[in-house]
Amino acid sequence: MFKSILVPIDLSDTDLAKPAIATAVSLSQTSNGTIRLLNVLHMTPVMLAEYVPADFDVQQRQSSEDALAIVAREVGIEPSRISSMVRQGSSIYHEILEEAQAIEADLIVMASHRPAMKTYFLGSNAGHVVRYARCSVLVVRH
Ligand code: ADP
Repeated sequence: MFKSILVPIDLSDTDLAKPAIATAVSLSQTSNGTIRLLNVLHMTPVMLAEYVPADFDVQQRQSSEDALAIVAREVGIEPSRISSMVRQGSSIYHEILEEAQAIEADLIVMASHRPAMKTYFLGSNAGHVVRYARCSVLVVRH
């Protein structure tokens, strides 16, 4: 049913991502669909630029690409059905929504912590994606 599934991953919390990845894999199998793993890196604030190595952003991107490649391999589906992307931006949910449009995703599968008062008031990445995505969104909770 779902042909193009986007799975945004916070690489600092891969335990949170595991159930979302497993769900995406299972849903993609029923329709031989594709999965795109996405990690979003924050832009280095201009104020910090002089304190970090010149190639800091390049190194960060490379580490994220390597980590996503490992996750993609561990998923165990055919390599032609899984790909990964690293984006850089100041807003994680904005980059998730942009990537969803770029790959014409018909489903975004993402994990979310349980709602807390903090996110109730401030909103969250998952909350913004649910609100603004043009495709279906499945929020997987532990
Ligand atoms: P919650 O929605 O529970 O408040 P968050 O908004 O921080 O929690 O994150 C939930 C989800 O947002 C993660 O499971 C992941 O799908 C996505 N996410 C968070 N950080 C990133 C990131 N740096 N890159 C890609 N996706 C992310």
